[in-house]
Parts: sequence; structure tokens; C-alpha cells
Amino acid sequence: MSIEKHDQSDNTVSETPEQLAQYRHAFEQRLADINQRIEQVCARSGRARGDVRLLPVSKTVDTSRLRQAVSAGCHQLGENKVQEAMDKAQELSDLPVQWSIIGHLQTNKAKYVARFAHEVQSLDSLKLAETLDRRLQLEGRALDVYVQVNSSGEASKYGLAPDDVPKFMTSLSPFSSLRVRGLMTLAVFSADDVTVRECFVRMRTLRGRLREELPDPSLCQELSMGMSGDFEIAIEEGSTCVRVGQALFGPRALPDSYYWPGETK
Ligand SMILES: *Cc1c(COP(=O)(O)O)cnc(C)c1O
Repeated sequence: MSIEKHDQSDNTVSETPEQLAQYRHAFEQRLADINQRIEQVCARSGRARGDVRLLPVSKTVDTSRLRQAVSAGCHQLGENKVQEAMDKAQELSDLPVQWSIIGHLQTNKAKYVARFAHEVQSLDSLKLAETLDRRLQLEGRALDVYVQVNSSGEASKYGLAPDDVPKFMTSLSPFSSLRVRGLMTLAVFSADDVTVRECFVRMRTLRGRLREELPDPSLCQELSMGMSGDFEIAIEEGSTCVRVGQALFGPRALPDSYYWPGETK
């Protein structure tokens, strides 16, 4: 049996059954490790483990590997790009997977999303909300949505400015096929925990404000924040959904700039 590193970065090669079994083993270990870290941070910050959802982010990961992840118990997968998500949803249509779109969504892709996705965490314009709702009505479906907020003020990040969110949330009420759940953000990419934490605190504060101002506080229950490098800080500050990619699936082949404009990391 050849010993391939499980974290090889080329996710498109076809792997032997032995290699996939190894990947499965490594994946299960990383999953157990992350679940344990989530449990620990919940315990020390007085939160219930059940209040924090782990959303595995599977962008760039090959479907043969995703089959391993699904059989290891991951039944929700987050994807940044619609085309990639659609292709995977089709290839894995025999499996019980709910697809979550977490990347910027162009209005002309809304019709595809309305067909197969379970959730959109990157709602960032009224035009997108309108189009999604209309397409969902045609499909007879509904979607969970999160409003994306630019919590770092960086020009390269998608999402609404925090001050624009209350009015935006109110303007979503006519769209009966959108089940508004809360807010999503990407923190600043920084090695400085203090500035990262500031983004999460800004989000927690915004949620508090929305709960007071909105006629229906249930629209703002959830806070999707925290990724591989910062999910523990995010949970400490109230995250209810952490989106974890590389720490679960291994390093990605494509640079982050492919998924996030303006990022060079
Ligand atoms: C890729 C991605 C993640 C996960 O990033 P990792 O650093 O791999 O954990 C989270 N959120 C969004 C929007 C992403 O595109």
C-alpha cells in the first residue's frame, strides 16, 4: 500500500481505496479534535454545546473525499461558489447532504441556488433577496438566510455595513420564502487576536441591537462567525455557527484569493 500524505493539496487526483480509507481516518481525527475544541470553549464560556453548529466548508475538496466526510457524520456542507456546489450536489445526490452557500452570490445564479440549496449565508443585497424569493416561489421551496455583514470595514469584504443592517432586515419581510435566521461575517484576517475579536464583538453588539429594534427578534437568533483560525474566539463572543474548512479537510490547493477578492493570504 502506498503511503500518501492525507493532506496532499491536489484534491482532484483519483485516489485508491486505501488512500481514501486513510483520508477518512485522518478526517475523523480532525473532526473529533474540532468537536472537542468547540466543547471546551463552550464549557469555559458558559455556553451549551448544542447552541453552536459546526458547518464543514468543503470548497476545493473532491467528491470522493466528501463521501468519506458524509459517512463520518457531516450532513451539511458549506460551499463558496455556486457552480462548484451544484456540481457536487449532483454528484452526491444519493447522499443526505444539505448545501449551504457561504460565498458572494450573483443575482443571475439565484435560480440555481433556489433549486438545490438549503441555506444562503451571504445575503448582501435587496436585489438578491428579491430574485431568490421569486425563484423559490417558482420552485415551491424556502431557504434559511443569513445577512452578511462587513464587520471589519475592509473594502475587499462583501457584506453590509453594520449601520445598514437594521433597515435591510426590515426590508426583507415581504419575502416569504426567505427564512431570516441571523447574521454572517468574516473577521479581519489578522494574526492579532484583539482585532479579530473586535469584529466578533461588533457582531454580537449588532445582534443585541437588532433584537431590541426589530418587531420580530426571532429574525436575528444566529451569528455565523469563526473559521479554522479563529472559531474559538468567535464562540467566546457568541457565535452559533462556525464555518470550518482547512482544519477539517486539510489544506486547500487554490489560494484564498480565488474565493475572496482582495485577499492574498
Ligand atoms: C473558505 C471559507 C471558510 C472556511 O475557511 P477555513 O479557513 O478553511 O476554515 C469560511 N467562510 C467562508 C465564507 C469561506 O469562504
